[in-house]
Amino acid sequence: MPSLTVDHVTKRYRTGTEALTDVSFAVEPGTLLAVVGHNGAGKSTLLNIVSGLIRPTSGTVATDIGRGRVLWAPQRTMVDWSLTVRQNIELVARLTGTPVAAVDRVLELLDLDKVRSRQAEYISGGQLQRVQIGRALVADAAVYVLDEPTAGLDPAAGELVMEHLRARAAAGSTVLVSSHDLDAVERTASDLVLLDEGRLRAHLPVAEFVRRA
Ligand code: ADP
Ligand code: ADP
Repeated sequence: MPSLTVDHVTKRYRTGTEALTDVSFAVEPGTLLAVVGHNGAGKSTLLNIVSGLIRPTSGTVATDIGRGRVLWAPQRTMVDWSLTVRQNIELVARLTGTPVAAVDRVLELLDLDKVRSRQAEYISGGQLQRVQIGRALVADAAVYVLDEPTAGLDPAAGELVMEHLRARAAAGSTVLVSSHDLDAVERTASDLVLLDEGRLRAHLPVAEFVRRA
C-alpha cells in the first residue's frame, strides 16, 4: 500500500506558468525517492505541494500514514529569525513530542553545535540551510520531504545527511529528496522521479535508470 499518492497534479501559478502538468505517481513506505530534473522542471513545486505548503490547481496528494506525520525542509528559508539555532529545532521537537535529546543529536549531526546559541538572524546561509534540515530530521515522521538538502553543504556533511535519510527509509519512512546531482542520487536513492518541464518523464528504481543511461 503506497504511503504517498500523487494523482493527476497540475499547478498553474498566478503568473500563468504551468509548473506541473498532470503528474501522477505513488510511493511505497521504505522508499528514498529522488526527484530530479533541470532547473525549472517543477521539483520545488512538487515538493511544496507534497508538504502541503502550496495547493495544486487540480489533482490530489494523498498520504496513507495512519497517525504518522509529514516533516519538510523547503528550499526557501523558513526559520524563526528571533530564535536561536537550538530553539528553532527545539520548536519542532516540542510540537511533535520528541525528547530534547534528539535536538542535541541533530545539532551534532549537522555540525551546528558551535552556533547553537546564536540567533538565526546572525548565522551563515549554509548554517541556515542546516537548521532547516534539522527541523525536518529532529522527529520521527512517516514522510520526509527535503528540497535540495545537500546543495551548499560540503561533501562530508552532505554524505552524513544522506546517510541519515537512508537510515530513516530503511526504518520504513518514505523520503522525498529533490536533487540536480545525479551522482549523489545514484549512490543514495532507491527510486527516481524525473521531471521535465513540469511533466513526469520517468518513475523507476535507480538501478534501472543507471542501466539505461
Ligand atoms: P525546480 O525546483 O525544478 O527548479 P520550480 O518548481 O522551482 O522548479 O519551478 C517550476 C516553474 O515554476 C519555473 O518556471 C518557475 O519559475 C515557476 N515558479 C516556481 N515558483 C513560482 C511562484 N511562486 N510563482 C510563479 N512561478 C513560479
Ligand atoms: P528553484 O527554481 O530551484 O526552486 P528559485 O531560486 O528559482 O529556485 O526559487 C526559489 C523559490 O522562489 C521557489 O521555491 C519559489 O517558491 C519561488 N519562485 C521561483 N520562481 C518564481 C517566480 N517566477 N515567481 C515567484 N516566485 C518564484
